Amino acid sequence: MKITFIGTSHGVPSSERHCSCTMIEVGEKLYFIDAGAPLPDSMLRQGKKVNDIRAVFTTHVHGDHIYGLFPLCDLVSWHYKKAFITVFVTEQELIPLIKDTVRLLSGTDPDKRINYELTLPDKVYSDDLVRVSFIPTKHKEGGAKPSYAIRFEAEGKKLIFTGDLSGLLSHDDFPKEISQEETDLVVCEMAHFGVEHIYPHMQTAKTKTFCFTHVCPLDKYDMIEEIKNDFPFSVITPKDGDTVEL
Ligand SMILES: [Zn+2]
Ligand SMILES: [Zn+2]
Repeated sequence: MKITFIGTSHGVPSSERHCSCTMIEVGEKLYFIDAGAPLPDSMLRQGKKVNDIRAVFTTHVHGDHIYGLFPLCDLVSWHYKKAFITVFVTEQELIPLIKDTVRLLSGTDPDKRINYELTLPDKVYSDDLVRVSFIPTKHKEGGAKPSYAIRFEAEGKKLIFTGDLSGLLSHDDFPKEISQEETDLVVCEMAHFGVEHIYPHMQTAKTKTFCFTHVCPLDKYDMIEEIKNDFPFSVITPKDGDTVEL
């Protein structure tokens, strides 16, 4: 399995960072966690084919996690005629917005080649390669609107993406599964709290690699550097385009 960090920025893009988007290759097939980067442009630049995408899982409805769904769904509806993609979104209202955009832009049937799914806590996506499940968090309005961490399992490995979490972790929504389950990789956001808030959770994490993305403000990169040797696992801060092989 190969993980490529397509976009590692928070909230807004910068000259060197797209917004949140991670591509996971399992065999020949592609899966995405969040679609905040321009898709499919940025994956094509990695030499990947749209026809190989199986599913896109989004953690919550904020622009830096879903903007890329619009061009992707539009292009799949009329151009990539061999693609068939499942798209998970966390709020029902987003589905007609994407479909209406596709209809407006290209006049095509928005349900052609795209299967839209609403993420729910007990829903599981599985195919012959992967199993994906969802852990509720409280990033949006303290949990009044849905947001999820995502557990991704394939080839005997397990990854957990935290998605965005509550400000200062004040709603205690860092996924407890990260200290309960053995994982190969944790991908944690780092925009809504400080190193001092995440540190105790890192002390109990049962992972082999702890990865920070969505880092804001940028001086947190230096703060992470200062604590990274305190743990029995590796702590990494990938840039756009960096990869991890599991
Ligand atoms: Zn975000
Ligand atoms: Zn957010």
